[in-house]
Amino acid sequence: MRLGIPKETSSGEHRVALVPETLGRLGDGVAVTVEAGAGDAAGFPDAAYREAGAEIGDPWDADVVAKVATPTADEAGRLHSGQVLIAFLQPLTDAEGVERLTALGVHAFALESIPRITRAQPMDALSSQATVAGYKAALIAADRLPRFLPMLMTAAGTIPPAKVLVLGAGVAGLQAIATARRLGAVVSSFDVRPAVREQVESLGATFLDVGVSGEETEGGYARELSPEQQAAQQAALQAQIPSFDAVITTAAIPGRRAPKLITADAVRAMRPGSVIVDLAAESGGNCELTVPGSEIVEDGITIVGITNIPSTMPTHASQLLSRNVASLLALFTRDGELVLDWDDEIVAGACVTRGEVNV
Ligand code: NAD
Repeated sequence: MRLGIPKETSSGEHRVALVPETLGRLGDGVAVTVEAGAGDAAGFPDAAYREAGAEIGDPWDADVVAKVATPTADEAGRLHSGQVLIAFLQPLTDAEGVERLTALGVHAFALESIPRITRAQPMDALSSQATVAGYKAALIAADRLPRFLPMLMTAAGTIPPAKVLVLGAGVAGLQAIATARRLGAVVSSFDVRPAVREQVESLGATFLDVGVSGEETEGGYARELSPEQQAAQQAALQAQIPSFDAVITTAAIPGRRAPKLITADAVRAMRPGSVIVDLAAESGGNCELTVPGSEIVEDGITIVGITNIPSTMPTHASQLLSRNVASLLALFTRDGELVLDWDDEIVAGACVTRGEVNV
């Protein structure tokens, strides 16, 4: 079986789907072709891939093509019927891209659609990339704040610790809490899923009570709040937000626009110099004033809406993603041959388009 690793072409995408280290984990019988320069932006030169046993060449003709971002129309044009494609295909929001892959007859597997069951944890690319995003969000908040995070006792007097609020305590939020705590901030957090209170507290943060609690789906995700609950949440947060120096927001409902948690009025109630890092910017943002893809200052409050934050730490983001891809691939191969077991819950769950040629 041949695995192809293209160079990412979307602007700002510095990750690569497979790093040289992972080649040794793919097992005998899997040959790898990497496009020239595919790992450059993540710190993995062609020479490192060659040394690990890969060939540098055209990856698009391989039996399985693994990449990070969903293929552009041009890239999709290089795929053919019966091929397997693995990528972040945005199946809930990119209907056009999925239709294109259906028409081509490829077996397309979306990293986002891998069922979040225990057996699939090593393949869980949403979690690995959210870990990177949460960590980096805390660093961005620390960097943009005009003050220290930890309490400092100096000869010039005592500096109190910064207060950080993390909204949404899923994978990214919990990592942001842990990172802000390591930097010495006093951290509070809120999530609509009451079950996360214990996880928040185990990281040394306080669970903020905003008087709203939502339901959880079978997959562990939050259900969208009713308009009344959303309004109550916004009002409660508006009252509490002025006491925080930084707010990191990560709230998401899969396939939906991000819930608006912070209104423009709530932003204006914050102290000048405060910072909001909106990790939900890609799906519209948790803050009404977030400009996706940009960082703005509004009435002295910095609002960071940078998108694709995992790509700003491409070495480790790629390394984790690469292990996720290798684990998924292990499920697709028997003795070096491509075998798709459609009765397997993970194979069936991750598949978004199924080609005509049976594998
Ligand atoms: P996500 O990125 O979809 O959402 C982030 C967080 O936002 C979630 O915790 C959600 O509850 C919260 N949220 C949604 N609306 C909100 C609102 N209005 N206010 C405040 N918070 C709001 O979620 P995620 O981080 O990808 O994962 C969510 C859950 O999935 C995890 O907590 C976990 O239970 C489950 N999960 C399971 C596995 C596994 O078993 N393999 C792996 C990873 C995650």
